[in-house]
Amino acid sequence: MNNKVSALINDQINKEFYSAYLYLDMANFYTQKGLDGFANWFEVQAKEEQDHALLMYRYLQNNGEKVTFEAVAKPDKTFEKLIDPLKEGLAHEKYVTSLINTIYEAAQESKDFRTTQFLDWFIKEQGEEEKNSIDLITKMELFGDDARSLYLLNSELAARVYTAPSLVL
Ligand code: MG
Repeated sequence: MNNKVSALINDQINKEFYSAYLYLDMANFYTQKGLDGFANWFEVQAKEEQDHALLMYRYLQNNGEKVTFEAVAKPDKTFEKLIDPLKEGLAHEKYVTSLINTIYEAAQESKDFRTTQFLDWFIKEQGEEEKNSIDLITKMELFGDDARSLYLLNSELAARVYTAPSLVL
């Protein structure tokens, strides 16, 4: 595998773990606010990010590449309003999309079609992540200021169940 592509995927493993950490921090914020459904939604989100990291870890290993773990950064976002983590989450997903695109570009440049095919799943996944974030922000903007609606939205988010990714390596 091209050195640059391998290094970018290795770096992305760290970024995915950071995403998990960030989402867990958001879950923690909502738990402190008494919104267990919102907390559940972000805990599921955190598990998905760990999956992303593990898929990349396995992909590098399967291709004979060395995996190096670096320190995971401390989540440093601060939240005041209930909608803040949702907006930070969307901004973060857009950032992750740009990172995946950069890896994809590097793989394409080195004609590494195995990696572009591997990344296709992540490209699609990022589209879903951004849409989920936007939908949640929309609901929060519509209903978040009303206590009864917030209660219902919290109940809806409490029902989110974790499912392992369907990607086969
Ligand atoms: Mg991810």
